[in-house]
Amino acid sequence: MDHLPSLTSDCSQCAALCCVGLTLDQGELFAIDKPSGTPCPNLSRDCRCTIHTDLVDKGMTGCTLYDCAGAGQRVVQMRFNGESWRDDPTLLPAMMRDFNALKPLHERMAQLVEAGTLDLTPNLEAERVALLTRHARVWSDSDTLRNRFDAFVSALAQANP
Ligand code: SF4
Repeated sequence: MDHLPSLTSDCSQCAALCCVGLTLDQGELFAIDKPSGTPCPNLSRDCRCTIHTDLVDKGMTGCTLYDCAGAGQRVVQMRFNGESWRDDPTLLPAMMRDFNALKPLHERMAQLVEAGTLDLTPNLEAERVALLTRHARVWSDSDTLRNRFDAFVSALAQANP
């Protein structure tokens, strides 16, 4: 489907939105506590991770497991013309709002693409494509869309027990 946004994260086109937006809880996956909306102390001025090659040894395994499915760079490039909150901190609340709104949509689109590798009935395939199209068109989540996605997953589970 060529109308889909990229679902592969590209940190070079983002502004480290996950390193700001995620809540980190000190424990097995993270060495530190950090509230959502606060930049990680390991983030450099130019939005690079200063311990990128050392994340596991530094107790930040959770960072290696995280994937925004392309939501971060889409927010930065499509909503903010490539600008960074580092240069204009007043952008941060709106960037966080858009990132949190878009992330679940991208995560579900990635799952819908994955579902396309299964042997689906024509009805399920039609619904999968319709859901992908709908998810790609909107910039924030809704109960309607979430419920429709959940219904698709339930139908998929019944068809492929
Ligand atoms: S440790 Fe690095 S990758 Fe993890 S949140 Fe901090 S800056 Fe981001």
